[in-house]
Amino acid sequence: MTTAQRPADTVALPQDLVRPLLHRAAAGGAPSVEVFAPATGHKIADLPQSSIADIDAAFGRARQAQQEWARTPVRTRVAVLRRFHDIVLAEQGTILDIVQTETGKSRPHAFDEVGDVAVNSRYYAAVAGRLLATRRPRGVLPALTRVDVRHRPKGVVAVISPWNYPLALAVSDALPALVAGNAVVGRPDNQTALTALWAVHAAERAGLPTGLWQIVLGRGREIGGEVIARADYVDYTGSSATGRTIAKQAGERLIGYSLELGGKNPLLVLGDADASAAAKTAVRASFASAGQLCESMERIYVHEAVYDEFITEFIAGVEALTLGADLAFTSDMGSLTFPRQLDTVRAHVDDAVAKGAKVLTGGKHRPDLGPYFYEPTVLTDVRPGMTVYREETFGPVVSVYKVSSDEDAIEQANDTAYGLNASVWSRSGSRGRAVAARVNAGSVNVNEGFIAAWGSADAPSGGLGISGTGRRHGPEGLLKYVDTQTIATQRVLPIGPLPGMSEATWAKTMTLYFGVMKRLRQK
Ligand code: NAD
Repeated sequence: MTTAQRPADTVALPQDLVRPLLHRAAAGGAPSVEVFAPATGHKIADLPQSSIADIDAAFGRARQAQQEWARTPVRTRVAVLRRFHDIVLAEQGTILDIVQTETGKSRPHAFDEVGDVAVNSRYYAAVAGRLLATRRPRGVLPALTRVDVRHRPKGVVAVISPWNYPLALAVSDALPALVAGNAVVGRPDNQTALTALWAVHAAERAGLPTGLWQIVLGRGREIGGEVIARADYVDYTGSSATGRTIAKQAGERLIGYSLELGGKNPLLVLGDADASAAAKTAVRASFASAGQLCESMERIYVHEAVYDEFITEFIAGVEALTLGADLAFTSDMGSLTFPRQLDTVRAHVDDAVAKGAKVLTGGKHRPDLGPYFYEPTVLTDVRPGMTVYREETFGPVVSVYKVSSDEDAIEQANDTAYGLNASVWSRSGSRGRAVAARVNAGSVNVNEGFIAAWGSADAPSGGLGISGTGRRHGPEGLLKYVDTQTIATQRVLPIGPLPGMSEATWAKTMTLYFGVMKRLRQK
């Protein structure tokens, strides 16, 4: 049975930390809302909310600050990211406390977010200069036509982020937008607003001009449309259902958007896999942040040749997890964040059990630890028709299926409308990669769960199908925040017949030229 750790007596944050952060929000014009720590039920803050006037003022300040920032040399912008990287690592104790208190997650899972921000600030600081440099492609008439392709920041980027990975998702998408010369108006979830406000405070201490990164606060349904109405680009992370609403609103305004949405991610253990290694990693990959991770595994397909070994090791690993919300690296898995997450988890497990699924371990709410704790849960005998078969749970529940071949595993893994992340296990890297290429997912990790792909900041990350559109990380994660502008300068001779040349001769000359260029295999 999963051993339990008692929660810390209190995880409420000190008011001298909370109050100055609240003052940084562009909010106060609408009635405040109370926010509570999920792990204990203690109140964290009366969170001010943004009125329309607050949102207008935030965009006004952001637009003004962006004018100057767009003219600031990229090397100066990059230096801010480098200092921000150092501040986040040096002050990780504070931000880990805030993230844990707001989400209820364990410290190791909160640390993943610190790592994410460090990796992305380092990466974009290293590549921004090259990615944003003006390009000089060949002109229509080489030497006579000079072409400059410039990158212009979009202007003010809205980053609408959820509550489950509040530091990573509010910050790591804002950094490339900022370094590309944009301002950012962030709308973090109310539950995790302090994390975003702390990040803005840290960025300003790192040298980010005041006003450039604004935070507005309010429920998505209430202020999301107002934010999108004023933005030049929208970066959204959250559910596929909300993603559709965001896309409609952005489409109506003809502004660009990037949507990072839900997942029902599969882990495939092939017949030649190291089942023990797969089982160990599957524990972390399924229960990070109590399964409230878009990339986490909800379906595991194991070849019959290694099924028994995998299941034995996997269950042992799950039952060894300690549950708790203490502000130290002592507990493995924390609490769910909202009562509605607990309701979904219970509904999915109860429905599966009522229809014939078996609970191999877990399956219980643990109010003795805190209001929304739920045990890490492993199901088998899950079948189509059970809610958990197809719908994203976004909680600590994973279903294990026995398969008879690679084909069988791939077919079942692809039986979903989602396509965010996947994991494939094989002792042969090439076999693993061949299977990975046939799995419908934006990222596939071979012999790893999610961190290999997610943490490789130079590689794009994002979804197929209803898991989203657009990419974060990699060059794509920065270039989405700029428009290209082509400036073509014609020199010496015009493009057209020379004085005295007939159109027919011009056409003949150009035909010859096109033929030569093709023979020389020129672009
Ligand atoms: P949700 O869509 O209900 O809410 C997510 C965020 O969107 C919240 O902060 C909410 O306030 C905001 N929101 C809601 N309606 C809005 C609107 N009309 N305009 C603007 N903002 C609005 O999702 P949830 O259930 O709270 O979050 C979990 C979901 O997010 C899961 O599906 C999960 O997979 C997904 N997610 C995806 C990623 C990714 O990178 N792909 C990362 C984290 C979470």
